[in-house]
Amino acid sequence: MIKEWIVGVAIAVLVFLAVLGYNVLPLFFLAAISVALWYMLDRRGAVSVAPREAMVKHQVSFDQIGGQEHAKRELMEALDFLKYRDRIRSLGIRPLKGILLTGPPGTGKTLMAKAAATYTDSVFLSAAGSEFVEMYVGVGAQRVRELFRRARALAKKEGKDSAIIFIDEIDVLGARRGQHSHQEYDQTLNQLLTEMDGMSTTQTPMVLVMAATNRPDMLDAALLRPGRFDRQIKVDLPDKEGRLHILRIQTQGKPLAADVDLEHIAGETYGFSGAQLESLVNEAAIMALRQNKQEITQEMFRDAVDKVLMGEKTGRKPTPEELQRVAVHELGHAIVSELMRPGTVSHITIAPRGNALGFVRQIPESDRYLYTKEQLEQQINVALAGCLAEELHYGNRSTGAQNDFMQASSLARTMVRCGLSRIGIVDEENLPETVLDTEVRHILSEQEKVTRALLAPYKEDIAAFASHVVEEESVDGDAFRRWLEGVHARKAQPEANAACAAALAPDGGRMVPGTEGLQAGA
Ligand code: ADP
Ligand code: MG
Ligand code: ZN
Repeated sequence: MIKEWIVGVAIAVLVFLAVLGYNVLPLFFLAAISVALWYMLDRRGAVSVAPREAMVKHQVSFDQIGGQEHAKRELMEALDFLKYRDRIRSLGIRPLKGILLTGPPGTGKTLMAKAAATYTDSVFLSAAGSEFVEMYVGVGAQRVRELFRRARALAKKEGKDSAIIFIDEIDVLGARRGQHSHQEYDQTLNQLLTEMDGMSTTQTPMVLVMAATNRPDMLDAALLRPGRFDRQIKVDLPDKEGRLHILRIQTQGKPLAADVDLEHIAGETYGFSGAQLESLVNEAAIMALRQNKQEITQEMFRDAVDKVLMGEKTGRKPTPEELQRVAVHELGHAIVSELMRPGTVSHITIAPRGNALGFVRQIPESDRYLYTKEQLEQQINVALAGCLAEELHYGNRSTGAQNDFMQASSLARTMVRCGLSRIGIVDEENLPETVLDTEVRHILSEQEKVTRALLAPYKEDIAAFASHVVEEESVDGDAFRRWLEGVHARKAQPEANAACAAALAPDGGRMVPGTEGLQAGA
């Protein structure tokens, strides 16, 4: 407030002097320099020690958090300590001082803390761990003290009897003590522990500290002792149902076209965090705006998934030969993917995005937590199929398969580590690098043979469809499947005729059971 006043008056004086005909240039520079100086000192915390914590203006409730049912329930149970404080006190239960939320970024930890404040009718203050880290010893500790003081003051001012302090990225200041080259971090952490030890149930307003990290293993043990952050709540990536729930929340109030199938999108977005889903919905809406449409369509969602996964379309313009090669490569992935798990190709695209020149998006069957050896091998086959399709068609490979190889090797390494390779169960810690390497290479070369055999029958058919993909830029999974079925039908023709002939033979050639199965699995 005062700052604005000073600035305003100063400008008025300068203008006034200028109007009177004085040379105000030196004065102006002087003012600019002092403002810059003030700003720098302020940034360094020499002028004000208050961390730049933010107050929530709009309230967040648990209903606005999708999925995370388990975490929400656990958190609400813990918060009841704060909500029903009198009962807790009368039973002599130790108050809950800290709750640690752990999990990958963008899963809704900040949202949870805000919802906690709403649920318990507390004031909410937040700060990030990095804000306490300063050049000067003692400033961080002072900021911690200030933060607690502000929380209490704010609660009193707003007439609430509790406050929630949320510290994001607590690993920055709560890493194991003695690890850093200077003492600043240690002092800050000590101050936080001291503040938390000083809190009691009888205190009004009561303060609850919530903190978030995705590296709980990095934290100083002292932080996790009873009486500090003795509740740890895991906030994980959402499963399919959770994703659907989040999509429903994020699309609320947005005009969706009739063809939008949120369930389908939830199925396609395996591994997405809540924040990525939010960005997906936002991107789809931006596409509607750019195309001047009133509604968001399923296709816009599909493109938005590509964008969130692979990045923005790049301006790179591959030559026609390169495009044809990319199409052949991607068709290789798509064919093997479809042979292994029918119905899994969502679409094939050769528009350059991020680092990729093209890609095949697969629909995950369902969320998986366990993989069998066969499933891992199938994924390796899909990864290798790109470069092998190039080899089949052109007789040579290109540099475009680097990522595929990395993925295939990582899958093979997982197989070895999990005891799914020919050397059987291994002790991961004592597994020599050379043995791992040999096994990985063995798996890859075996699967290379399998993949090559899978693709061989399509040698003649790939080229024509690749040209079609180049023309269309993006081909839908259904269109691709129709083409593949056509190819299969044509190939099956001679054999079907042979089978008919056998059935008509006088010695009553019975159908051999499982013939089709064998063919598909070969
Ligand atoms: P974190 O703190 O775990 O990194 P945030 O809480 O900051 O994640 O989430 C960032 C944004 O992502 C939120 O503002 C919200 O729009 C969206 N989001 C994340 N998780 C969820 C969720 N479970 N439900 C609804 N929206 C979510
Ligand atoms: Mg956050
Ligand atoms: Zn590839």
